[in-house]
Amino acid sequence: MQIVPCRQCQALVDAEWPRCPACGAIQPGLAEIEPKGYEWESKGQWMGLPLVHIAFGYDSKGQARTARGIVAIGQRAIGGVAIGIIAGGFVSIGIVSAGIFSLGVVSVGAIIAGGVNAFGALSIGVVAVGYKVGGVATFGSKVMFSAMKGAVQ
Ligand SMILES: [Zn+2]
Repeated sequence: MQIVPCRQCQALVDAEWPRCPACGAIQPGLAEIEPKGYEWESKGQWMGLPLVHIAFGYDSKGQARTARGIVAIGQRAIGGVAIGIIAGGFVSIGIVSAGIFSLGVVSVGAIIAGGVNAFGALSIGVVAVGYKVGGVATFGSKVMFSAMKGAVQ
């Protein structure tokens, strides 16, 4: 481990870090950043995308990896079936999730959304906003079930 001053704010940073944790500046002389994390993709492809792409960590430019595939799994995932911290896809599952069918802490679904905060045509969540809704606090025209029925309509 080598400690170097940040070129922007002079904070002492671990030379292995691609970005200064204090100010976020990309560190110089790190053209050969050792990529960290994990990346794997299947050999099989469909429409130019790998069938499965798993990506965590960051690449040699210090950029956070994004998983893109028919099935994408990573911190950021975009795909047919996307699973990630931030996920976008036909079917998406994530902390922050957007898709046709979406499941997440914050979930936005074109057709179905499920999660703590769910927004979708059909949404089920602690807070559910949509057309057909179910949950604790529901906001929609058709309430399937609600713990606070009538309270918030
Ligand atoms: Zn800095």
